[in-house]
Amino acid sequence: MKRVAKVRHLFVTHVPETLEDGVVYVAMDLGTVVHRCCCGCGLEVVTPLSPTDWSLTYDGESISLNPSIGNWSFPCRSHYWIENNEVSWAEDWSVWRIEAARRWDQRVKRWHYGAGHESPAANRPKGEARSDDDDQAESRLPEGGPSDHE
Ligand SMILES: [Zn+2]
Repeated sequence: MKRVAKVRHLFVTHVPETLEDGVVYVAMDLGTVVHRCCCGCGLEVVTPLSPTDWSLTYDGESISLNPSIGNWSFPCRSHYWIENNEVSWAEDWSVWRIEAARRWDQRVKRWHYGAGHESPAANRPKGEARSDDDDQAESRLPEGGPSDHE
């Protein structure tokens, strides 16, 4: 499978039965935009144009679609932006997000399951240097726990 880095747009009155890779079909009359998934899997992505769905920007030379296109229901689960006919992949961003969510989940679980006999504050060695990042994360944890009342 070959990823598409750049698309070209085609204004159409009806969406053709067979779509071409790397072509974004803009059917203004139907208020819809159709293209084949830019990851190369060949699945058809329909992005309806409406105030609650997608909006299309055409600057006379290229198109942009907003918001990003997230094909969560496809096996490829690809996520990208089409901006000025260029495809930006969101994978780095989503990997970071998934990682952050996983870590946060672990923190919550640790706090939840350990709440009876220990608290996050008690786990932290006194005087340990903490980064700003840690401070932000800690401040979102619920305060309290038996060992806080001394
Ligand atoms: Zn795909």
